[in-house]
Amino acid sequence: MSSPAESLWNNCLKIIKDNVSRQSYKTWFEPIEPVSIEDKVLTIQVPSQFFYEWLEEHYVSLLRKTIKRELGEDARLEYKIVVENSTGQAKPFTVNYPNYNTGNNKNPEVSMPLVVNSSIKNPFVIPGLKKVNVESQLNSNYNFDSFVEGDCNRLARSAGYAVASKPGGTAFNPLVIYGGVGLGKTHLAQAIGNQVKQNFSNKTVLYVSSEKFTNQFIDALKNNVVNDFVHFYQLIDVLIVDDIQFFANKDKTQDIFFHIFNHLHQSGKQLILSTDRPPRDLEGMEERLLSRFKWGLSADLTIPDFETRIAILEKKMYADGIELPRDVVEFVAYNINTNIRELEGALISLLAQASLNKREIDLDLAKKIIKNFVRSISHEVSIEFIQKTVCEYFEVPIDKLKEKTRKRNIVQARQLSMYLAKNYTKNSLKVIGKHFGGRDHSTVIHSCQMVKNLIDTDEGFKESVKELEKKIQLSMS
Ligand code: ADP
Ligand code: MG
Repeated sequence: MSSPAESLWNNCLKIIKDNVSRQSYKTWFEPIEPVSIEDKVLTIQVPSQFFYEWLEEHYVSLLRKTIKRELGEDARLEYKIVVENSTGQAKPFTVNYPNYNTGNNKNPEVSMPLVVNSSIKNPFVIPGLKKVNVESQLNSNYNFDSFVEGDCNRLARSAGYAVASKPGGTAFNPLVIYGGVGLGKTHLAQAIGNQVKQNFSNKTVLYVSSEKFTNQFIDALKNNVVNDFVHFYQLIDVLIVDDIQFFANKDKTQDIFFHIFNHLHQSGKQLILSTDRPPRDLEGMEERLLSRFKWGLSADLTIPDFETRIAILEKKMYADGIELPRDVVEFVAYNINTNIRELEGALISLLAQASLNKREIDLDLAKKIIKNFVRSISHEVSIEFIQKTVCEYFEVPIDKLKEKTRKRNIVQARQLSMYLAKNYTKNSLKVIGKHFGGRDHSTVIHSCQMVKNLIDTDEGFKESVKELEKKIQLSMS
């Protein structure tokens, strides 16, 4: 039996589902939990402050309409937001949202808890050190225009955009961008910086790699000018620190960064950080620093899908004034699926080879060049690795893949492992069959066909395949 709140919310979801994309529905509505319904007030629980703001910004009218339709004109919606308190335990608090009827969304009670009054004065400012003297160290080619949007970066990109239009004034502070190598962290972080400069010419933006920050700090220590170092950083309005995983195990650097972080955050200044892994997986990092990272938003960048890879290549070609046949572009996008830097690398080597050989780039040439390229960049992945990854994912024992069991979930794991082995290893069908309890090559072909059919017909299965492919590709990069 579902509670009244649940059944009401389920009705709402049916309407919502028809009005938003599948991806948005999954991202923004599935995680919502209905809590209660009392006196025409529906309370829903959302996982974070950011989540709440996103709903308010993008879906407020849909939510309003839907809830009115289900509950009547005087319906109201309240949010419960799960926040992390200092002990790290999740604790919900309630945000009232009473003004559905007046259309007035500006409710003082929903002011963001993480934004601190920006009028706090900096007691350390050195007279004479003018803000305008700070060189931002930004590359102007890294902007939002050149940053192609896709599912792989949608959240990070829009959060970044929000930050750029209101630095220090959103709940995304710090904004932590994370993702593997070559997936666009530096590009996006710099795009935010460039955009801030465009929007607010009086704001001081600074981009610094964590290595450079560390070296500057060491120099300051040597020369006895740590205070100046700290004061300099405290003048910045938007501080971008790239690749903070390099702070790992550098205790003194972390201390000083903690100090600067606090000062800037308390003064309503914006921090943008990037790392190659989610903050929770950062090792050698002080707990108090990690807990600060959780104050804002962590958004990841993942490997772009095929269509986005094509879009990125086309953008790049356009910017460089190059034209390539469509089949060549597709071939490159299809075969380079590790990261965007590799994708660009492939394009460059294609152009270089073409001019060296004085011939037009056609599919044949592309095939020759990319073949070398792919081999040199990818690590081999083994059939065993694929089997292990698939079995962990579906929670089935790995030995079962080699047995004759015809249980549905095992058959599926077995067939999918074969399919992935065919696509991601250079093994022959015969060798692949051997790894699955000595099955013959026609069984492998049949399995691959079954998997292809399922991908076309079963959305859930397709998602699983995508996730597994991502895992495999990550291990290859
Ligand atoms: P990371 O810092 O994550 O290692 P970079 O930001 O250096 O990655 O990106 C690698 C290359 O890929 C850069 O040349 C960058 O311009 C390009 N790139 C990354 N993401 C995108 C995107 N979404 N659209 C266009 N180019 C991108
Ligand atoms: Mg980078």
